Amino acid sequence: MASIEYRDMSIEVKNLRFTKYDLRRALFVLRKSYFVLFILLLGCGKDPAKKTSRLKIVATTGMIGDAVKNITGDSAEVFVLMGPGVDPHLYKPTLRDIDELSDADIIVYNGLHLEGKMGEILEKISLQKKVICLKDGIPEEKFIISNPNQVKEGDHAVYDPHIWFDISIWNAGVKHLGKELANEDPAHSQLYLKNLSAYSDRLEKLDRWTKENIATVPKTQRVLITAHDAFTYFGKAYDIEVMGLQGISTVAEPGLKDITNLVKLIAERKIKAVFVESSVSEKAINAVIQGCMKRGQAVKIGGTLFSDAMGAKGTEEGTYVGMVRYNVRMIVNGLK
Ligand SMILES: [Zn+2]
Repeated sequence: MASIEYRDMSIEVKNLRFTKYDLRRALFVLRKSYFVLFILLLGCGKDPAKKTSRLKIVATTGMIGDAVKNITGDSAEVFVLMGPGVDPHLYKPTLRDIDELSDADIIVYNGLHLEGKMGEILEKISLQKKVICLKDGIPEEKFIISNPNQVKEGDHAVYDPHIWFDISIWNAGVKHLGKELANEDPAHSQLYLKNLSAYSDRLEKLDRWTKENIATVPKTQRVLITAHDAFTYFGKAYDIEVMGLQGISTVAEPGLKDITNLVKLIAERKIKAVFVESSVSEKAINAVIQGCMKRGQAVKIGGTLFSDAMGAKGTEEGTYVGMVRYNVRMIVNGLK
């Protein structure tokens, strides 16, 4: 077994054989470098002697992990990298995550830059290991362009990554995932396809239920104000105006101008509630509420929505379907 000499990593990389101990040691020194993460993931395949009949699948987000579990049942081992409350835009893999990724038979991720730099690395790893990207199951015209003004000036389109909030689009991604998993695991393919069909039906029902419920809020009051732009797909699919304070990613802080504009809009439209998000700081939205109070416009916090991460394991919101239902109920109750 080769060991890693940090001073001359390139020589050992050619060897592409690392032990787990080497991996940990290297990470201890170099954990901040994504390049190293990439190299290590290439090198660390599963030890063939350790292989069991159960596939090990690593999913980046809770929503994806939930879909994988619904498709595989107990026939695969599923590990989710980003747990409750984790902001995927700012996510950095931990040592445990690296371990899980290097052990995985299959890695599943969202794509469209949701996972930041990690997405680029996974794309490269797909040459060595089975990597499934949810967005590959979705026709490109379904994606929402998040930089329309730049596109008009000839720039490339950047797509909004929050695809799980249009349930019909998400369903297309889940179908792609299910078929890929069935291909990868022939011993369980019949089961996976059967489970996929049942889960997909549930998602279709959830899509209809969401449409019906949002439609009960009078049209002028149907404005969803949240901390960041996670809900653009939701707004388009379910006919509700959406305004985020922070833009598509949570990396940039909102400016004073954004807050002032939003306060004006809330007062003009007499919007009853604004919402906070489980994985994003409340600071910005509290500034809006204070601004409204100064203008004499009472606006309440409608509640905490789950946006980029699901709720705690074992709770209703700890599943994708439960999370959507929870959000919809909260939005409808807050705005009506
Ligand atoms: Zn987000």
